[in-house]
Amino acid sequence: MDRRSFYFIKFNIFIIILFIVNGLFIHDILKHLNDIHVSLKGDETVVISYKTSYEDPGFEIINNKQDVDISNATYELISDVDSSKLGEYEVKYTIKYMNKDYTLIRKVEVKDTIGPTITTTVDKVERSYCDNKLSADVEYSAVDDVDGEVTESVTREDSDDKITLKVKDSSNNESILEIPIVNVEKPSNKIVLNGKSIQTIGVGGTYKEEGAYYADGCGTKIDDNIDIAGSVDTSKEGKYTITYTSKTDNKIKTTRTITVKEMPKAQTAPVTGNSVIYLTFDDGPCAYTKRILDILDKYNIKATFFVTNQIRGYQNMIGEEARRGHTVGVHTYTHQWNIYNSLDSYWNDFNNMDAIIEQQTGKKAEILRFPGGTSNRMAKVGMSNIVNSVNNKGLRYYDWNVCVEDAGACVKSSNKQQCVYNYFVNGLKPGRDNIVLLHDLKSYTADSLERMIQYALSKGYTFKAIDQNTAQVHFKPYK
Ligand SMILES: [Zn+2]
Repeated sequence: MDRRSFYFIKFNIFIIILFIVNGLFIHDILKHLNDIHVSLKGDETVVISYKTSYEDPGFEIINNKQDVDISNATYELISDVDSSKLGEYEVKYTIKYMNKDYTLIRKVEVKDTIGPTITTTVDKVERSYCDNKLSADVEYSAVDDVDGEVTESVTREDSDDKITLKVKDSSNNESILEIPIVNVEKPSNKIVLNGKSIQTIGVGGTYKEEGAYYADGCGTKIDDNIDIAGSVDTSKEGKYTITYTSKTDNKIKTTRTITVKEMPKAQTAPVTGNSVIYLTFDDGPCAYTKRILDILDKYNIKATFFVTNQIRGYQNMIGEEARRGHTVGVHTYTHQWNIYNSLDSYWNDFNNMDAIIEQQTGKKAEILRFPGGTSNRMAKVGMSNIVNSVNNKGLRYYDWNVCVEDAGACVKSSNKQQCVYNYFVNGLKPGRDNIVLLHDLKSYTADSLERMIQYALSKGYTFKAIDQNTAQVHFKPYK
């Protein structure tokens, strides 16, 4: 190669390199000028739960790798997201930035992701060694945030150590609640008293020793060899203890306590000559309340409901009770004994319940029933103090003079429905106001209600809801 052509080639290579470098540089500048990205923040499809509020994460503009404040753009946001209805929705941004239009669309799906809430009245159950039976009836209800009441769909499965309650909502979300069963061990031998272990006798009354026997842990009699020590002087007020010791095994003892005291005059409702029944339902509303209301409607009977907030999801039934012409009174918000710790705690609980009643019925309650009745022994602050405070506020309170034992003796009956009915029939007295204590929390009470009504109607009773003219039936406050 001669020198000339060498220089010529060298020059050409130089020009070519110059072009390439130049080209890259210009391309880079142009590219940077156009490097605008307008995009959604977050995912293009978002799933949210039913009835949760939706807030869109917005969009972002990146210009030349720099985050741009979106206030430099003009934009419009159209969103039809309604989380109170299941479905698919759209969030749409129309954006103008540096004279260019952008449209961004996000899909929002409202789904039911939460299963029903199962509520029960117990958190565990004991299984008796002796008869292999469960100590308590498991009452339950289930409410779903979308489907509402789903108690009927709950399935129950009992195994050796637990009760499993299962329920699915219409979106197939399943809720499972397990209630442990505690198997009680074989109890040791014991002394079984004939008659009640705690007795109260009026001064001047008589104490009759009913005796006791020695039995195995399940109550089967072993023998009658019992030593009985102690005595009761019914002429003097006081607390007396009788001690029973097994002669077969003198480590096995038990006691009976007899309180002798001046008896208060029995509180009875006025004898009016009219045979009236005031059905009063405590502890609801709950799953069975609607059925009770329908039965009452069928016979055009008005009743009284002393309501609680124990079972979630049924507050609307309080409004329903009032709309159907029944009287609504306060029972308690929590139904815990600690409401009686002080006047403040009592009124705090009362006001919580009264607020729900006012919200549901449009007015505050004028009547109440104390949890456990006025004679309950749980009030640390003293029931007399609470009663005075209730009277001072011009509220009226009602105890009862007929108890169907649906939360008492009948709970362990093998035929609860019949048991409740029997207590009802035996408790009624003609010619007076019969204030009947029932619990809408008990399915068997709802089951026997119609029969109770038919019986009472056949005997000429009339039914009323408690109103301003209903004479109050009061127990004597305990302390
Ligand atoms: Zn109660």
